[in-house]
Amino acid sequence: MFKLLFAVVMLLLSNAVFSAEGVHWEYSGEAGPDNWAKLSPEFGACNGKNQSPINLAGFIEAELEHITFNYKAGTSEVLNNGHTVQINAVPGSSISIDGIQFDLKQFHFHAPSENLINGKSYPMEAHLVHADKDGNLAVVAVMFSEGEKNRGLEKAWGQMPEAGMKQALASSISPTEILPPHRNYYRFNGSLTTPPCSEGVRWLVMKHSITASKEQIEKFAHVMHHPNNRPVQQVNARPVLK
Ligand SMILES: [Zn+2]
Repeated sequence: MFKLLFAVVMLLLSNAVFSAEGVHWEYSGEAGPDNWAKLSPEFGACNGKNQSPINLAGFIEAELEHITFNYKAGTSEVLNNGHTVQINAVPGSSISIDGIQFDLKQFHFHAPSENLINGKSYPMEAHLVHADKDGNLAVVAVMFSEGEKNRGLEKAWGQMPEAGMKQALASSISPTEILPPHRNYYRFNGSLTTPPCSEGVRWLVMKHSITASKEQIEKFAHVMHHPNNRPVQQVNARPVLK
């Protein structure tokens, strides 16, 4: 009985935290992506000209600098906010790009992938979300193909949380476990892919995919109960660098 009560309280608490903006949105129907901008004045950017995700194609050759990854392992927590399953990062992990340090805040998943590469959709995509000291965002995106199981996901999703639940991770996980060994990437300017769709986000999409097992991808899709990918947005005047 206590356990049930605890679960209900957790559910209420987490809903209050995760829907801070208080506006309900979904991936389909009346509150779906086509209507996000109409749901709240705060979601106006969802109709912007620099939105994510996109189909990455028509690349412009560029001398892209190496991203310096400074990721640390540590035990953290995993939560399901009804829109994705997210692992909150342990403080101390960061990347450096453009001479700026961006601290890793969290990483989460979409199935199928949100971005497309040359028109290709992947069964799953991870987003590693970073912020600099001024709150500017940089997202590293990693595509998953179906294959060998991923060890990081094995730890993160050992006890997959249902919607509204948050729990501590039992074993230490390093964000490097969901990075490809070769970290060449595509770059474009975009936005958050969920409301409020804020723009000015540096998107760094890894060229190389990594694998997750069929079971892992299905486990995620199953707990979400629906696809959680926003459709691709117009590229407009933006260059996609490679
Ligand atoms: Zn995302």
